[in-house]
Amino acid sequence: MKKISITTLGCKTNQFESEAILDQFIKHGYVFCNLNEKPDIAIINTCCVTNRAEYKSRYAIRRALKSISQGGKVVVAGCYVNKGSSFFEKNLKQIYLFPNNQKHEIFYHIEKSIEENPQDFLELSTDSYYLHTRVPVKVQDGCNFFCAYCILPFVRGKPVSRPLRSIIDQVNTLAEKGVKEIILTGINLGLYGFDLENYHLLDLLNELVQTDIQQIRLSSIEPMFFDDDMIRFLASQKKICPHFHIPLQSGSDVVLAKMNRTYSTSDFEKIIENIKIAIPDAAIGCDVIVGFPGETDKEFCKTYNFIENLPVSYLHVFRYSPRKFTKASEMQWDLSGTVSKKRMQSLLKLGQTKKNEYSKYLIEKKVPLKAVLETKDREYWTSVSDHYVRVFLKDENNTAKNGMLKKVVARELTIDNEGLIVEECTHD
Ligand code: SF4
Repeated sequence: MKKISITTLGCKTNQFESEAILDQFIKHGYVFCNLNEKPDIAIINTCCVTNRAEYKSRYAIRRALKSISQGGKVVVAGCYVNKGSSFFEKNLKQIYLFPNNQKHEIFYHIEKSIEENPQDFLELSTDSYYLHTRVPVKVQDGCNFFCAYCILPFVRGKPVSRPLRSIIDQVNTLAEKGVKEIILTGINLGLYGFDLENYHLLDLLNELVQTDIQQIRLSSIEPMFFDDDMIRFLASQKKICPHFHIPLQSGSDVVLAKMNRTYSTSDFEKIIENIKIAIPDAAIGCDVIVGFPGETDKEFCKTYNFIENLPVSYLHVFRYSPRKFTKASEMQWDLSGTVSKKRMQSLLKLGQTKKNEYSKYLIEKKVPLKAVLETKDREYWTSVSDHYVRVFLKDENNTAKNGMLKKVVARELTIDNEGLIVEECTHD
């Protein structure tokens, strides 16, 4: 039997696509293995959203080249391939390159044995799941926002939506197979329906809550998509995780304008306030970029103070790195690496404080949590709960299983403050 491994860098959309690529191989007799088990095919699904993501992608490719079986193939796919790199040119004899719009053809080209059927939304779907317990479901691709720092509109193309029937069929099949949680993903998820007539993300969510899937998590959504109708709907649906990841990027209006973001800090503040009024226990996370051109000390302080006063529960912090093709790459700016590192560290620290405060809130208020069990380490099962906090549940009777959905309540913080020790709820 031939062996296949897959390494995924970057976003949830890539994670979904990796599952789907893997599924095509496994359905044709391959077995999934780790990179250190000498695979015959090693796939690297790359990312180029930051310098670091590119570095990690190159590292993964080098590792794969060293690890494959004799005569094995290294397949490199995804955004970094679209962007291009001299690294690929140097290694062209040993690797097979697939840009985003050819990911659905990887199996066909490597094995030349399945029929292709290209369409506008490149169907790369799977009813199987090998890499995740909470399964990503891709519903959208592409973006036309052209934020000044972002390469994705160039490597992913214009917004396209996956046909509704195909999404619902996949979700129903996953539910039948026992999957409890799906994570809706897209490059710009809020743009779902942009290319359809009179059909939007809210309509899709309305259909999805009627399926048998028990928990639906939304991956990152841009702030402007949280209008009153959306917030009202989210607050009324028990199946939708009270966890929203909303990119902020900067707490300075000057920097936001330079970034070509279309909201102000006061718009953002209002949106968060509206979500918190409707769903007081909601976990809200933000992406923030430090060191963007024009981010002086004063503008950075504005970002810090703005976030300090926002009721958010965690932060994802990135250091700006210029990306080819983008508007920001032409902006003059020579901030030292030491300064941007310091800014990043202070925001990471603030993010940790926010996370701790939120965890303590969940304990004090005895907020009911729902968690799909992932892995067991000694006597504890671990999971990322619906409120996006890692939880640890003691398996008292040794009856729990991977993929089970448990209702739990937080008892205390773990020793390293990285999660919550929880106990099972016996009531709703
Ligand atoms: S919304 Fe902005 S940051 Fe997000 S993918 Fe589109 S261009 Fe990139």
